[in-house]
Amino acid sequence: MSADTNAPASRPPSVDALARSIAHVGLPHPLLVDAARRAIASGDPTRAESIARDTADALLVPVINGTGVIAHTNLGRSPVSFHHDARAQNLEFDLRTGQRGSRQEGIGRLIALACGAEDAMVVNNNAAAVMLVLAALAGGRDVAVSRGESVEIGGGFRVPEVMEQSGARLVDVGTTNRTRLNDYRKAIAHKKNDVAMVLKVHPSNYRVEGFVEETSVHELSSLGVPVVADIGSGLLDAACPWLPDGPPGWLNGEPAARQVLADGAALVTFSGDKLMGGPQSGIIAGRADLVKACAARPLARALRPGGLVLSALHHTVLSYLARTATTDIPFWRMAAAPWATLRTRAEAIIAAAGRGAVADCDSLPGAGSTPGASIPSVAITLDGDHLVALRSASPPLIARVRDDVTFIDVRTIDPADDHVVAAILRSLH
Ligand SMILES: *Cc1c(COP(=O)(O)O)cnc(C)c1O
Repeated sequence: MSADTNAPASRPPSVDALARSIAHVGLPHPLLVDAARRAIASGDPTRAESIARDTADALLVPVINGTGVIAHTNLGRSPVSFHHDARAQNLEFDLRTGQRGSRQEGIGRLIALACGAEDAMVVNNNAAAVMLVLAALAGGRDVAVSRGESVEIGGGFRVPEVMEQSGARLVDVGTTNRTRLNDYRKAIAHKKNDVAMVLKVHPSNYRVEGFVEETSVHELSSLGVPVVADIGSGLLDAACPWLPDGPPGWLNGEPAARQVLADGAALVTFSGDKLMGGPQSGIIAGRADLVKACAARPLARALRPGGLVLSALHHTVLSYLARTATTDIPFWRMAAAPWATLRTRAEAIIAAAGRGAVADCDSLPGAGSTPGASIPSVAITLDGDHLVALRSASPPLIARVRDDVTFIDVRTIDPADDHVVAAILRSLH
C-alpha cells in the first residue's frame, strides 16, 4: 500500500519531514521513511514513532538472559563467545601444500578426537545432519525406527517428515512403549523390506515412564545393518573430563557421543548449540567410510556451514580438548558456576541496585536436553510482574514471572553484565 493512494484529503505531512522528526529512534533513514509512510497510510501520522520503535524492537540485538534456561532456544540456544578477525581465513586452503583444502577435514579431526569417532563432519544443524545421513546411506531404501522414537522434537523436527524429505522410507518397528530386538530383526528379515539402516532417536524433550522397553544401541549393533543414533543434545563424553568434579547429577541418562559410538553405533548425529555449547551446527561422527559417503553427496554442499560458524566450533572443540571448557565455553561456565558464587553475585547486584531480594530457584540446561533435570540456582526477585519494563531496557533483560513475582536467575547472566543488571534494576520505576 502506498501513501499516495491512501492519503487522507486534508494535507498530510510530508513523508520526509515526518521521517526526519523521528530520527532520534536511531534507525537508518529508509526504515524511518517506511515507518512514516505506513503511519500516513494508516491515517494517523502520530503513529510514526511507535511504528519505528516496533521496527527497532524487531532487530537482532544482544540480550541479557535472566530466565535460568542456559541454552534457551528462543534466545539463540548456547551463548557463544569467540573473537573473529576481519582477515581472510584458511577455510579451504591447505597451509602445508598451498593447495585447495577441505573445510571439513580439520574440524572433523578435532571432533572425532573429542568423542572417540573415526571421523566427523559438520552441517548447519542437527536436522540437516539427520537428513544428510538418511539421504546418503538409505536414499530410496528403508530405515527401521521404533514407534516409540518416531517423535517430534521442538521447532518442528519430526522424524517421519525428515525421513520423507531425505528420500528414505520409514519402517515402523514395535510399539509406542515397547520395542524389542526381535521386532527389529523381523522388520529387517521381512521380504517386503529393504532395510539399509536402523535409526535410533533420543526423545530429547520428553520422557515416557512406566511399562517401557527400548532396545539398546549395543543390542541393535548385532543386527548387521549400520545403527545411526540421533542423540540430539551434543554431550561429547558422559565422563565430562572437562569438568573438575566429573559429570553433574542433572546429566543423568543423557546419551553421549563417545559412549554411544563405543556401544556400537556406526554414526551419531547431534546439535552443536545444545549441551556442546557451540554455534548452531549439526555434527555427524562415527565410521570414516560412512562420514565420507555423507560428505560426497551433493546435498552436503547445500548444507555446509560457513567460516564464521566453523571458527566458533573450532574454538569450542579446542576448549574441550584443552579441558578449559568451564572457562572458555559459556554453557559450561554457567552450568558449573557454584551456588555460593551465584548467591554472592545476587547480593552484590541487589546492593548496587537498591532493590530486589534473593531467592532459591532452579536453572535448566535447556534446548530440550535432560528433560526434568534442573540445577539449583539463585535468583533476584522483585514483587510484581516487571517483564515488560525489563524487556524494554537497553540491553533487554529477559526474566520469568511466577505467582506475581519476577525472577531473574543469576546463573544465566554473564558476570561481566552484573553491573548492567544492577543499573537496569535501579532505573525501574
Ligand atoms: C534438537 C534435536 C534435533 C534437532 O536439532 P537442530 O540442531 O535443532 O536441527 C534433532 N534430533 C534430536 C534428538 C534433538 O534433540
